[in-house]
Amino acid sequence: MTITRDDVLNWLNECGRVITENKDYLTQLDSAIGDADHGANMDRGFKAALAKLPSVADKDIGTLFKSVGMTLVQTVGGAGGPLYGTFFMQAGTAAANKMELTVGDWAAALEAALNGVVARGKAQPGDKTMVDALTPALSALKQAVVDGADQNESLRRSASAAEQGMKDTIPLVAKKGRASYLGERSAGHQDPGATSSFLLLKAATDTWTK
Ligand code: ADP
Ligand code: MG
Repeated sequence: MTITRDDVLNWLNECGRVITENKDYLTQLDSAIGDADHGANMDRGFKAALAKLPSVADKDIGTLFKSVGMTLVQTVGGAGGPLYGTFFMQAGTAAANKMELTVGDWAAALEAALNGVVARGKAQPGDKTMVDALTPALSALKQAVVDGADQNESLRRSASAAEQGMKDTIPLVAKKGRASYLGERSAGHQDPGATSSFLLLKAATDTWTK
């Protein structure tokens, strides 16, 4: 089984739907430890990215990801937009010229994406950022591939590791981004970016394990 170009398009559309559905939730999380714009930022970015997709819809998966990444960088301010922009642009470089992805290819794209986020934002695991959802998701995915798990099982393990990573941000003290201005007072709140990362990876699992 592989992840086709249509599967990728379906995932990106599902990302847009899920982000809109969770817009207020993400903003509420960001109001506790940030500036209450994460839901609006993500929603604006994905709406713009999806609006541009038809113009590249017949292209390879790398081009689809790069288009989303460039639009996110162009339309979303703050920390989240450029970081997610980097995420999708790096995934796009990893998936360049591919018309379908094996689960191993998806792991390689996710790894490139996460490396891009870390290179740009300099956050380490435990700093209470999106990196705390993405890192365990990638580890679980790679381990599942090594274990010989099938695609569905690998994707499920990855999403559930992202969910755990998201929840594990609650007690953390933020070391990066606006939440870090709060110091110890950032503890006790779930990180908005880790939450949006979980939602995007869960959308991938939900779309691709159908
Ligand atoms: P802003 O903080 O500029 O308002 P958003 O509200 O859209 O941007 O995004 C906030 C999220 O961005 C945080 O919850 C965190 O997960 C993520 N984030 C902030 N700074 C970094 C960083 N340096 N590296 C990785 N993620 C970060
Ligand atoms: Mg914010």
